[in-house]
Amino acid sequence: MYTVTEGIVLNQIKILNGRRMIRLFSGKYGKISAGTSIRESGKSKSALALKPFVRGRYELNKTHNTYHINKAEVIHSYYGLAGNMERYINCSYVLELTDRLLPEDAPAEALFLLLTEFLDLMEQRQKKFEPPVLAYIFKALKMWGAAPELEKCVICGKCTDAPACFDVAGGGIVCAECSKSDGNIEKLRNDKLLYSINFGIVNVVKYLTEQPLRDFGKLALDEGVSELLRRMVSDYAAYHLDIGKLRTEEFFGL
Ligand SMILES: [Zn+2]
Repeated sequence: MYTVTEGIVLNQIKILNGRRMIRLFSGKYGKISAGTSIRESGKSKSALALKPFVRGRYELNKTHNTYHINKAEVIHSYYGLAGNMERYINCSYVLELTDRLLPEDAPAEALFLLLTEFLDLMEQRQKKFEPPVLAYIFKALKMWGAAPELEKCVICGKCTDAPACFDVAGGGIVCAECSKSDGNIEKLRNDKLLYSINFGIVNVVKYLTEQPLRDFGKLALDEGVSELLRRMVSDYAAYHLDIGKLRTEEFFGL
């Protein structure tokens, strides 16, 4: 079957005889692995469109369950992101997380559009990269039906607007009462699966999850809040999505 799709290159692996395997987040089919014989050294338009951080248009052949890229064309290259190392690392982290999050061959158009919007936004931004990165992750978790519970205590089920902690394993907030009385809380604390939080943090997470990325403008977060959320969401995603440890996480000391 011949087909054309827009996509973002997540990464590429060299295989035998100059052939490469491209992992593409395609608009139509979600994440796919596609082989290609287009030479890396070539200066052709197609060769340029096979590098990570390129959004392109890809002509594919699908036989059985295998994709092959015949031709490719750059729509937009995000190489400019590399002009700032911190920004580049943050974007690499998001690309790696997206790659781990997506199953093969399952359309995920909303997430594809979100990734495009995220990369566009990061390209414009010169500092304060945390808010878009965190927003992307919380929005992706929501799209995946894996958003943390922020309204009700995950132990007693009562609504609370003054949570005391965030229970990574339980998947959400814990009310003040349960945080004092529940017998498992101490164990969670020892296993480092419990974060002390306050009302403010919950509102920040809600804001990051609900507000469109384009509204972020120059929004900055307090450094302590950013760091706490980064750790929390990284532990949460690793626990609930079975994505393991990301290569790029070590840059953030996670
Ligand atoms: Zn409770």
